[in-house]
Amino acid sequence: MNRTISEQLFASALKSIPGGVNSPVRAFRGVGGQPFFVEKAAGSHLTDVDGNDYIDYVCTWGPAIHGHAFSPIIKAVQNTAENGTSFGIPNRLEVRMAELVKEAVPSIGKIRFCNSGTEATMSAIRLARGFTGRNKIIKFDGCYHGHADSLLVKAGSGALTFGHPDSAGVPASFTQHTLVAPFNDPQALRELFAANKNDIAGIIVEPVPGNAGLYLPESGYLEFLRTVCSEEGALLIFDEVMTGFRLARGGAQELFGIRPDISCFGKIIGGGLPVGAFGGRNEIMDKLAPLGPVYQAGTLSGNPLAMAAGIAALENLTPEVYKTLEVLGASLESGMKTAAARYNIPVQFNRIGSMFCGYFIDRSVKNLGEAMGSDRIKFAKYFHLMLEQGIYFAPSQFEAGFISTAHTEQDIEKTIEAANNSFAKL
Ligand SMILES: *Cc1c(COP(=O)(O)O)cnc(C)c1O
Repeated sequence: MNRTISEQLFASALKSIPGGVNSPVRAFRGVGGQPFFVEKAAGSHLTDVDGNDYIDYVCTWGPAIHGHAFSPIIKAVQNTAENGTSFGIPNRLEVRMAELVKEAVPSIGKIRFCNSGTEATMSAIRLARGFTGRNKIIKFDGCYHGHADSLLVKAGSGALTFGHPDSAGVPASFTQHTLVAPFNDPQALRELFAANKNDIAGIIVEPVPGNAGLYLPESGYLEFLRTVCSEEGALLIFDEVMTGFRLARGGAQELFGIRPDISCFGKIIGGGLPVGAFGGRNEIMDKLAPLGPVYQAGTLSGNPLAMAAGIAALENLTPEVYKTLEVLGASLESGMKTAAARYNIPVQFNRIGSMFCGYFIDRSVKNLGEAMGSDRIKFAKYFHLMLEQGIYFAPSQFEAGFISTAHTEQDIEKTIEAANNSFAKL
């Protein structure tokens, strides 16, 4: 594939934007090489500035559940923009949007919109602390909750030690209240609670972790999290920024039948525009300013364009959507597994609905430690072999892939054919 124009643009970008990108994983550091620049996108396909076409399994990292340039979203944004792009005072779309999320997610009594998933989780943590009057929070290694200071922490040497910052520029004192536990390990969590009696404000978790590839909660694990939080007077925060409206209309909490205290959203609910949201029971949400003492705000929060796009996205998420996504996901899974077996490539293909990850490893993967054992060099080769055949997967072993309703069985077939070709060369 010729990518001359992308290469020229990237050279220019490097001079003006750190690393040439506005979000690090786009830089292809996980696989080597350089990103392509997109000219336009439609349905399941991306076209780059050199005219190359790709079947897209990144789906703008999750939001594009209806595919790209979905006409109800485009029309809603166009029509809304005619009347102005931001008001800084309430508009009717915010109310409709809040009602739509509430209808889909019964654990939510009230919801507040913000501008990114990062803002949603950051605010949810503050709210949990303000509500409980406690300082500590528990997160899981391998779970990503955006780039707020106190959440940029992965596991230290042991689950009982204080977390260490994952980023320069985050003082250790900012993360001393963040405890890290391994996912799918009830005992480790019990120990954290025992060592921090009446100190833990809440647990924040991706109910299906999709930011270290993709692995699933073991049977009973999410129920365990719910029980332990209730027993300990801590809040259970589901970060459904990725899984919300993706795994089911009511998110992972609907699929697994769990009622979290606070839920965070982003990605799909913005229809491709910048949106985040967090919501929960009324008594918790009423602690937020202006009703309560927990401060949170945003100049562009509830932005009419973002609300219009989100409403169009949610209104089109019918039960058929999830059936279609499951059928496509199952086709991809079986084709990939067959291809890997044919060429004797050790691949652990994890999937739930329209989210998936193929780890290059010969064992099951159900937490970060196990995911880290996968062969990243093999993944990088595979990634580039697929890209050259016009199949775009996320440029890292540790990202989930996404299918949209715009993907077709032909897209899946083409992808499996390309995977066969790639495995033959690995
Ligand atoms: C993407 C993501 C975030 C961060 O959202 P941004 O909009 O990128 O700030 C938070 N939590 C989860 C689970 C995510 O997947």
